[in-house]
Amino acid sequence: MCAGAAVKLTPKRLEVYTVLVQAGHPLSAYELIDEVKRNFERQLTPISIYRMLEFLEQKHLVRKLKSTGKYIAITPNGPANNQQVLQFLICRDCGQVRELAVDPQVLIQLTACVDQCGYQLKSRELELECICDQCITNPV
Ligand SMILES: [Zn+2]
Repeated sequence: MCAGAAVKLTPKRLEVYTVLVQAGHPLSAYELIDEVKRNFERQLTPISIYRMLEFLEQKHLVRKLKSTGKYIAITPNGPANNQQVLQFLICRDCGQVRELAVDPQVLIQLTACVDQCGYQLKSRELELECICDQCITNPV
């Protein structure tokens, strides 16, 4: 995946990214520290994990979800890589997150509505609370 994104990752950054990809759901910085320790026997400090997450965010490999403050790996060159259509569906029951490609026109309309209120839209990232297909099929 990283080769596709043309990003060179140091071993530590690659470990953090790998843990996030394998988790398949959002993790907090402290959960990431635990998972990296469990998988790679490497102890990271909170400062170093936040620096690495910042780097991965800049490279569009990781996104911090505003609704939960947790981090999710995003697919390089996937639908979410274009910032104009970067949206997430978040299952309120199991926490799974899915990337969603949204027609840029939807965001243009949304921005126009915000403008009409005299406000300025500061984030075009939508985090939509949902129930995922698996939780619909197999309710807890
Ligand atoms: Zn679910």
